[in-house]
Amino acid sequence: MQEITGVIPSLTTPYREFGKHIGEVVAIKGAIHNIRLMSDIAFILVRTAREVVQCVYSEEFSDYRLGGDVVEQAAAKVTGKVVKSETRDGSERYELQIHDIEILSTPAAVPPVVISKKQVVCDLSVNLDNRPVTLRNPKERAVFKLQEGIQRGFREYLQSQNFTEIHTPKINFAGAEGGTNVFKLDYFGKTVFLAQSPQLYKQALVPVFERVFEIGPVFRAEHHDTSRHLNEYISMDFEMGYIDSFTDIMNMETGALKYIMNLLKTEYAPEVELLKAEIPEITSIPCIKFKEAKELCVKKLKNITDMKDFEPEEEAFLGKWAKQQFGSDFLFVTHYLSKKRPFYTMDDPDDPEVTLSFDLIFRGIEITSGGQRIHDYNMQVEKMKRLGMNPEEFETYLMLHKYGAPPHGGLGLGLERLTMHLLGFKNVRYATMFPRDINRVTP
Ligand code: ATP
Ligand code: MG
Repeated sequence: MQEITGVIPSLTTPYREFGKHIGEVVAIKGAIHNIRLMSDIAFILVRTAREVVQCVYSEEFSDYRLGGDVVEQAAAKVTGKVVKSETRDGSERYELQIHDIEILSTPAAVPPVVISKKQVVCDLSVNLDNRPVTLRNPKERAVFKLQEGIQRGFREYLQSQNFTEIHTPKINFAGAEGGTNVFKLDYFGKTVFLAQSPQLYKQALVPVFERVFEIGPVFRAEHHDTSRHLNEYISMDFEMGYIDSFTDIMNMETGALKYIMNLLKTEYAPEVELLKAEIPEITSIPCIKFKEAKELCVKKLKNITDMKDFEPEEEAFLGKWAKQQFGSDFLFVTHYLSKKRPFYTMDDPDDPEVTLSFDLIFRGIEITSGGQRIHDYNMQVEKMKRLGMNPEEFETYLMLHKYGAPPHGGLGLGLERLTMHLLGFKNVRYATMFPRDINRVTP
């Protein structure tokens, strides 16, 4: 009788362990990524889960003879001897002297886009149309490996700070962030909404767990085609109770970002190198009030008409300003106008025109909005009425306030936005595996 033990025997050797096996024969599995035939040898690059391994074929090494079945994108098991390879920069690299290639699967067609070069060279739309294939390119893939590192860092840091990971419903009875960018859905004859954020639920969980976080998709019906908006993106959210000030939330985010950047530099060094990512150094993050930031923008930029919010050019300017003034890639802008923040935002008791809220600007783009929330029942009901909302429609949300909630607040950080500016992309779609925008729902 066969028994399943939960252990998968490891019959292959990851590239990063090659240093321990010099001179030994090991096996790897991966896709034939690129084949370069020379007169008496051939270089065969094999794309494994994280690295591209250079394998060298020569009749000198073994009795194996290269056949016509070794084609790009074939899945293969390659056996060979580990040897040190020559590098121009003197760094430690290894290659395999091929003893055998076993083809495990043969592709039916040649990829529609060349993916075996250093990078995919084509229009963004062609790249996205062929995403299941273009993502195989090591550089494209590295973007999303790095993105995994960002999420992992966020999770690990918050777990270390006693946050509980949650998942909240994506089919909601109301939109949390207001505005018109909410997707309506027919739910057995009833109109419901796709979650614009986990806001209402993460708040409900503060009296339960005190500190909660969620990494998950949110949906925004953006009626425009911009370089920074997606219709579905990954929001990294947290909410924390018993805060003394809304700056506690900014401190928590700063701690998380420091941890994330350090994790990328250490555990994601191959991707950082491949992408030439400039990982920001964070010691502290400067803060400026919205009103002062607006004055700066008005002084320096022309044609500013919206005095209640920032245009992308203003964010870009503030990003440069923070870099010049403080040497910082990040800037917190605080005390946004009450009129421009959602209904759950706490107004500043010293100046009710503004809120105890903030945005974080990273290299000239907003990546986070956050702030303190209203915890008092009467205050929340009043504010809803003032904004023309019907508190009765929010009965289950208001249970939070009605039955007692501590002072609390939190934030939402857009994963793709952060990745985009970490890697210097001009378009957020480069930082999105399968983007959904006004013109695209496939692949
Ligand atoms: P913007 O002003 O840039 O449209 P927002 O203020 O409407 O963004 P928030 O509701 O504050 O967005 O969302 C919190 C964070 O989620 C943003 O700071 C950003 O990182 C990210 N985000 C918001 N909307 C999108 C979107 N459509 N696509 C990608 N990321 C987004
Ligand atoms: Mg915002």
